[in-house]
Amino acid sequence: MPVRATKRGDARTPLSGEYDVIVCGASFAGLAVARELSGSGARVLLLDRYEIGEKQTSACAAPTEFLENLGVAGAIRQTFSDLVIHRRQAHGGRETMKTYRWHLPWTFSTFDYREICALLKEQSPDVPFETAKVEGRTGETIRTDRGDLTAPLIVDGLGWPRYLSESGQRVTPPNARVSRGLEVHPDGSDSDLELWLDPKYVRAGYSWNFPAGDELRVGVGSFDPHDHVKRPTQELAADLGLPAERWQGNWIPHKMRKPTDGIVFFVGDSAGHCFPTTAEGIRPALYFGLACGRELRKVVEGRQTRAQALDRYAAFCDEHLYAFRWLLRVQNMVGRLNRYPAMDTALDIMDRQSFVTWSFNHYLNITPPDYVLDGPHGDRFRTPLAAPVAVAA
Ligand SMILES: Cc1cc2nc3c(=O)[nH]c(=O)nc-3n(C[C@H](O)[C@H](O)[C@H](O)COP(=O)(O)OP(=O)(O)OC[C@H]3O[C@@H](n4cnc5c(N)ncnc54)[C@H](O)[C@@H]3O)c2cc1C
Repeated sequence: MPVRATKRGDARTPLSGEYDVIVCGASFAGLAVARELSGSGARVLLLDRYEIGEKQTSACAAPTEFLENLGVAGAIRQTFSDLVIHRRQAHGGRETMKTYRWHLPWTFSTFDYREICALLKEQSPDVPFETAKVEGRTGETIRTDRGDLTAPLIVDGLGWPRYLSESGQRVTPPNARVSRGLEVHPDGSDSDLELWLDPKYVRAGYSWNFPAGDELRVGVGSFDPHDHVKRPTQELAADLGLPAERWQGNWIPHKMRKPTDGIVFFVGDSAGHCFPTTAEGIRPALYFGLACGRELRKVVEGRQTRAQALDRYAAFCDEHLYAFRWLLRVQNMVGRLNRYPAMDTALDIMDRQSFVTWSFNHYLNITPPDYVLDGPHGDRFRTPLAAPVAVAA
């Protein structure tokens, strides 16, 4: 679990300077941008209020192939080829639990946050990192608690709040298009990646147990930000016979936002790059981070202007709007049906291998793993997992 490592007191020396690119936020989105700029010769600075990998923000599950192509498979803790879904059904006043096991056409892996961040950062050794709290922006100047920094190219990878927006687009939950998620990380092991579509825990949303080697990540997500998730998370942990300890949670955007605003590039949660329905935000944060980094690289190498990069990045994000809107429709439907028998019928209809294969392949290809290999580093970092895949007993 995270141990606070952020510099304090005297170690927090003043910071100033001019850069070509300032990447604010050193989690999935920011680290992906930095990776694509590495080797360009540009003066890039990466900032975060915490040390890299210090503060885990998710259950850390993503499609294995994406992680392999990115060269971070070394952080994987466990890999799953099936998704197990538990559904509480009420018929004739009697409640039963029905379990579906869907065999996926590709695998999902859980990983260690600190390790994946370290592996990603190793791919941009020429990009300096500083711990500083970003407090705002005026034009090309970023204000931090350690001083002001300037750059013509600025990336906001600071997560859902959209700190660096200039046109009043800051996100203010619960009155915003966000979901909320909370989880506990007790010690333990399990062999299945499990979801619960059980209104006992959450009215509009779902619950999960993601095993990661010797740790379980057990939590509840609500599509409605007004619904609290602490009590249901405690309840789910208790039902699984687990202690509710080592908490982490956050708001999760479920609507794509403008990917640029003024001169700022927004990437990951700050741009709403998190899939509705599944709340899978890591893969899109990495994917759009790579896209943004590639556009910025062309600017620092003199191959396009900042205005062209802003336009091209925005157009690239917009190409994915259709899929995000579809997933939002599915999320709204699940939210509405979850308490009713219609959800049982929907799951029964989906419970066919042909449907599972078709739908999950479509889902993967919204942000396809091959995209990783198209960039300036090609397949240089690729680390395929050794077969057979290890799972906990
Ligand atoms: C409980 C929960 C479980 C989840 N599980 C999964 C999952 O299993 N798989 C999945 O794909 N997605 C999951 N998600 C969603 C996923 O965590 C996010 O979509 C993803 O982390 C977005 O990455 P990001 O880099 O855009 O932002 P973040 O990971 O939120 O990173 C933002 C970075 O900015 C830094 N920062 C913030 N403010 C400042 C500031 N003012 N100054 C300096 N630095 C700052 C932070 O320290 C952080 O490093 C989950 C979310 C939650 C809440």
